[in-house]
Amino acid sequence: MRIARFAAGGDPQFGIVELAEDGGDHPDTVAVLTGDPIAMPVQLTGERRELDAVRLLAPVIPRSKVVAVGRNFAAHAAELGNDVPTIPLTFFKPNTAVIGPGESIIYPPASNEVSFEGELAVVIGRICKEVPLERVADVIFGYTIANDVTARDLQKTDGQWARAKGYDTFCPLGPWITTHQSLEEVADLQIRTTLDGEERQHGSTNLMVFSIPELVVYISSFTTLLPGDVILTGTPAGVGAMLPGQEVSIEIEGIGTLTNPVAGSAPGASSTPSIKGSVR
Ligand code: MG
Repeated sequence: MRIARFAAGGDPQFGIVELAEDGGDHPDTVAVLTGDPIAMPVQLTGERRELDAVRLLAPVIPRSKVVAVGRNFAAHAAELGNDVPTIPLTFFKPNTAVIGPGESIIYPPASNEVSFEGELAVVIGRICKEVPLERVADVIFGYTIANDVTARDLQKTDGQWARAKGYDTFCPLGPWITTHQSLEEVADLQIRTTLDGEERQHGSTNLMVFSIPELVVYISSFTTLLPGDVILTGTPAGVGAMLPGQEVSIEIEGIGTLTNPVAGSAPGASSTPSIKGSVR
């Protein structure tokens, strides 16, 4: 099942996405649900909309946190001159960094090098702490796609990554959450990132240093995970800078494609940051 969060002129709603490619004689549609399936038991309302007629939002606004994992692909660690960690390297991204499909990643004036990082994201479905390996599947609601946008220059100069990884708009999520895959299935999915249609990253989740179950066990050993929290599982090799005016897409086999334009001032230019009021 694919769970989307969307707006159709009013407040955000949730629905089940049914794609024409799955078979059946219909356009891509979304069957509207009575509420947020991560937070409550839900039912179908009976209302159905064409997917093209709604605006997809981030499929989840993490309740408390996005926990991200750095250097979880050996080739990516190597391309930035880093060793592979012996225990998972974790950091937080604030939930205010989350944006949805099609929303702009805003280039901050303080950075001259904003990079994409295509990643598989795990959405937590229940409150949990110290999850044993054999219970990991029980605490996962589903999977989506994330772009762990990073101001690479600030990451190097700051040491701590709160700013470089935490700017508003630096955590695109979407286009929806898939709930049907097993841990075995998501352990071998192709991840492909393109910039203006040109392939920049192409890896597989089977190249992760620490597997999704190992990450959930590790992260829940030090922090309580809440329903709607999100774990970013690391990026394959090929990361690189984006520029305002470009468009970045991350495709993960079996999930979908997350596309975001890049906006803001060109690197080096001075500008006044703008604050956009919109439904996230
Ligand atoms: Mg990353």
